[in-house]
Amino acid sequence: MAIEVFDTIDGIRQHVQSLKADGKRVAFVPTMGALHKGHLSLMREAHQHADAVVVSIFVNPTQFGPDEDYENYPRDFEDDLAKCESEDVNAVYNPTKDSIYLDEQLIGFTIDTLGDTLCGASRNGHFEGVIQIVNKLFNIVQPDVAVFGQKDIQQFVILDRMVKEFNHDIELVRGTIIRANDGLALSSRNKYLNDEERKIAPALYRCLTYVGKQIEDGVKNVNLLLEHQKSELEAKGFEIDYLQVVTLDTLSPVDTLDTGEYIVAGAVYLGSTRLIDNIIVDV
Ligand code: AMP
Repeated sequence: MAIEVFDTIDGIRQHVQSLKADGKRVAFVPTMGALHKGHLSLMREAHQHADAVVVSIFVNPTQFGPDEDYENYPRDFEDDLAKCESEDVNAVYNPTKDSIYLDEQLIGFTIDTLGDTLCGASRNGHFEGVIQIVNKLFNIVQPDVAVFGQKDIQQFVILDRMVKEFNHDIELVRGTIIRANDGLALSSRNKYLNDEERKIAPALYRCLTYVGKQIEDGVKNVNLLLEHQKSELEAKGFEIDYLQVVTLDTLSPVDTLDTGEYIVAGAVYLGSTRLIDNIIVDV
């Protein structure tokens, strides 16, 4: 069946309701477009959990800081639509900013400690913007299941908590990180990298896997390890935002490891391009 495209709240809402009335389970993949194989893998994952997959394409202004790349964020709707079609997506929701946001926002969200570490520490208001838009999208689309990538692990943990605290009747699924052959996590922002930066970029993932291996091999005190790795990355030309080990459940930074699941995460700049990546280790 041909893919259906909606830009109004009523349009997508009624469409999903009619899918559900036909007995279909609906999965939802929210994106900001500039789709790559990482996004497509989430659509494939979504098919595993539902009978129909709905994708949203919306560059959400409220999750960008004033000095961030909202205006320049890559946008190519026709290409995105063709990719969704090739993944057998049932419908695309592509709202306008004005249909989603009122002129003034009088009610907001605050995020407690889950927003204090990793990207939350340096991107002021980012996760509040994410919670705001995903909350809206969940209420508009009303899917049975929603798929988000491990690539944005802090986003996933915060949304998982949001679903529980706000009683959304939606199952969250975490999709694995899709990488280029040299290990670089795919990202819409990789388009900003020049040839030289693109060659250097996979060193971030190599660094994370090295730290992960050390942890699996029994290193308990991670601070020295992280400091050393930061210097190595700096020597290669990265500017470090953070390189951290935090617990998977509460995103709390750790100095000394116990047993459990941990995230080894990094955010770096190559020139003005911000790259993030992470791995999960179970010790
Ligand atoms: P974005 O369009 O950047 O907001 O991302 C939309 C969704 O795709 C989010 O759930 C991301 O975590 C996920 N995503 C981004 N990059 C990747 C990747 N390389 N592999 C898998 N999922 C990804």
